[in-house]
Amino acid sequence: MGSTMKLFCSDLDGTIYGDLAATDRFREFWTELPKSERPWLCYVSGRLIDDQVALIHESPLPKPDFLIGGVGTCILDFSSGSPLHDYEAQFKEGWDLERVRRIVAEFPGIEAQPERFQTDLKSSWYWYDASPEDVEQLRRRLTEAGLNVAVIYSSSRDLDVLPAQAGKGNAVTWLCRHLSIDPAKAVVAGDTGNDLRMFQVPGIFGIIVANAKPELGDVVGGSNLFWASLPEADGVIEGLRYFGVGS
Ligand SMILES: [Mg+2]
Repeated sequence: MGSTMKLFCSDLDGTIYGDLAATDRFREFWTELPKSERPWLCYVSGRLIDDQVALIHESPLPKPDFLIGGVGTCILDFSSGSPLHDYEAQFKEGWDLERVRRIVAEFPGIEAQPERFQTDLKSSWYWYDASPEDVEQLRRRLTEAGLNVAVIYSSSRDLDVLPAQAGKGNAVTWLCRHLSIDPAKAVVAGDTGNDLRMFQVPGIFGIIVANAKPELGDVVGGSNLFWASLPEADGVIEGLRYFGVGS
């Protein structure tokens, strides 16, 4: 059976990248797909674009068509090397990075991530073992200050505050529209809480790798999901086959 899937969006760390032997198997699987059956490939990561580009050149990861970086704050057309500025343009208005920084810094136990992880559209922090209530309290505080932001907490450590219209899910939705692809012909894969919103794009299909954290696995729902029995990139291959890609 040929696949009807037109777009595959995968998280990198802990999903398609980590176990290099598995990443290598994914590259082989992907590059052996007949071109006519190969969906567009997009990596979706908390890593910034430059970091992802460097990683792709030094690892077995196959070359993608698009990169979504900085937890869904920027999109790059990988083959031309051009950022899709229309995506970012939509949320620059109403975003106040300085005020976000001031408010988050007031919370006890939160420390800023190094400067190299910060951008104009992404305020990133370490917050160890915050409870859902802690995160909710921070979200409320920012909202009450009149800030329209997305608060994303992952891996019991990483806190990202982004413009509300940014995030991995909105970026995937935007890319589908940009490519004129129905989300019902797209698959996403991920392993932690910052992937959750990709799985919540209406109509989209999802692969949860076996090593997924409960912060994703316990929260994600819907009938369009495949729960891989294998971890990381091997689970991705298993899921893509299930959805008819390369089977
Ligand atoms: Mg991950």
